[in-house]
Amino acid sequence: MGNDVKLLHWDIGAVKVVRVEEHVIPVPSDELIPEMGKLIEKHSQWLKPWAVSEDDEILLSIHSFLVMSEDTKIIVDTCIGVSSQMPVPPAEDFPERLSEALGTSLENIDVVLCTHLHMDHVGWNMREINGESVPTFPNARYLFSKEEIEQSSSDSENYDPTVMEPSVQPIIDLGLADFVESDHEITSEVRLVPTPGHTPGHVSVLISSEGEQALITGDMTHSPIQFAEPALCSSFDWDTTMSTATRKAIIDRFVDSETLFLGTHFAPPTSGLLRSSETGVLFSISETEL
Ligand SMILES: [Zn+2]
Repeated sequence: MGNDVKLLHWDIGAVKVVRVEEHVIPVPSDELIPEMGKLIEKHSQWLKPWAVSEDDEILLSIHSFLVMSEDTKIIVDTCIGVSSQMPVPPAEDFPERLSEALGTSLENIDVVLCTHLHMDHVGWNMREINGESVPTFPNARYLFSKEEIEQSSSDSENYDPTVMEPSVQPIIDLGLADFVESDHEITSEVRLVPTPGHTPGHVSVLISSEGEQALITGDMTHSPIQFAEPALCSSFDWDTTMSTATRKAIIDRFVDSETLFLGTHFAPPTSGLLRSSETGVLFSISETEL
């Protein structure tokens, strides 16, 4: 590995999932989830030290999930990249980290799925080689939810040129994009689940194989505390009423089930089960293979 980050991986039936980390950043909770600070103590027993630091900062992970299903190699979210305005150290070797985790060239990625069109989920859609901007996954179909694309277009009030111009429009112009329904089936084992609210066309990813199941959250949640307190909203949620309703519906559907949650912004161990307890729902971290 070009870095010291250990890979987390999971087998969901016959599907293999690997987490490839770009960054883990400590973020003051009031910057990301404004109402969270006063509720940390109530949940500190299961949140600390992996999801919230001893200084009450959110440990925000930026990572991609590689999903191998049948003969299809899928990457879910492409992190920040090197050209964004986010205050993070450059991670120029991230494509090499991905390639090493995949065990083959990124030319063999079949599908890129961006859960939504924010800069920390589309950044490596394109990369620069010899001064030229080229697709990082040249042979992949890039899937975007129809709803998300429509609501992010240049005539929409949600249009963000700092995201669309470098990382999404070139993919469309090169003919590599497919606009899909929010419940699109990628393989017989991997399908999208509409989870709107953070953005209009936000999707999560449900993996079902051989009786086992996992859900990749996307930004439906930024911290596992939001499973215990679903009314806690990110400052970046587009519609907080809708994002709260989405979290409540997902909790109702999966609490006390064996569906493993893979948090798109959760620091290691990143995965857990939703369990009801005397104090409400909690996110129970699970054994993972390191
Ligand atoms: Zn995000």
